This record gives sequence, C-alpha cells and structure tokens, in this order.
Amino acid sequence: MNLVCSNCIQSFPADRMHVLPGWVEVPGEPGAFAITFRCHGCYPAAIDDTERRVAAWDDATAAGMTRFIDLWDVRDFLPELADANDREAARGLVRIVRASDGKALLPRVVPAPGAVEATGFLERISIFSSSLRRWKVLLWCLAIVLAGLYCSTVLERL
Ligand SMILES: [Zn+2]
Repeated sequence: MNLVCSNCIQSFPADRMHVLPGWVEVPGEPGAFAITFRCHGCYPAAIDDTERRVAAWDDATAAGMTRFIDLWDVRDFLPELADANDREAARGLVRIVRASDGKALLPRVVPAPGAVEATGFLERISIFSSSLRRWKVLLWCLAIVLAGLYCSTVLERL
C-alpha cells in the first residue's frame, strides 16, 4: 500500500511514511489539526511545527487538539494518555509520535488489509464528515487517504 505525502504530493510505501497531527488552514475558517502523512524529507519540519503549536497552546491550538483527540479516539488508542487532560494528552501525543519516528498513529489510520471493514474505519470517516462543521478539513483528510488507496491499487496492478 502506498500513501501520498501531503506536502510534496509524492507517493511512498505506507511503512516509510510518517503520520502526525498537522495544522491545516482553510481560507475563511479557523485552523484545525488533521491526520497528516509526510515522507522522510517532509516529516521533520511538520513535527516541529506541530510541537511548536502544542507548546504555545493558544486558543486555536487547544480547540483543534481537543477535536483531533476526540475524533481519532487518541485516548483509547494510546492508553498511556487515557487520564490526561487535553493539554497533557496533546503534549503526550507529540512526544509519542516523535519517539516512534511518526509511526505510532500509522496503524490507527491505515489498518492492515482486511481489517478495514472490521474496524468500521471508512464508516467512521463518513459519519464524522457528515456530522462535523469542519467538513472541508475532513474531506481533505479523506481525499488524502483515498488518494493513497487509489495509488496503491494502481501500483499493485502494474
Ligand atoms: Zn514529502
């Protein structure tokens, strides 16, 4: 399976990609954190940016991180953050992502083949995109995931 780096728009095998919460700004709306895929070259700057935002913890970051943590069930997926408040959970998330070299969230967003239906992953995404106001950001996320899936399908047929 291949994924597309959302910075340089190049395709790489999923196990070489890094996954992190990335700050996304859509014109006319406040920014938000979205699941972000980065290649080796683009990852360091991206995790630095996220860490800087979380360290500053302004109102927009706090709101964005709270939504991101809930949307992706971060407290369930990373049990060490289960009892953390939002700010602690956000710092812990950045620490865990960095310590894992951007791999900690990979199984959360790219289930093993065959596990997609079992986890209801696509169903979750479509439910969230229809119920949240941040639909533009979510559609952008979904487009990235689908672009990755499409690339992998095309490449596997070659
Ligand atoms: Zn890249």
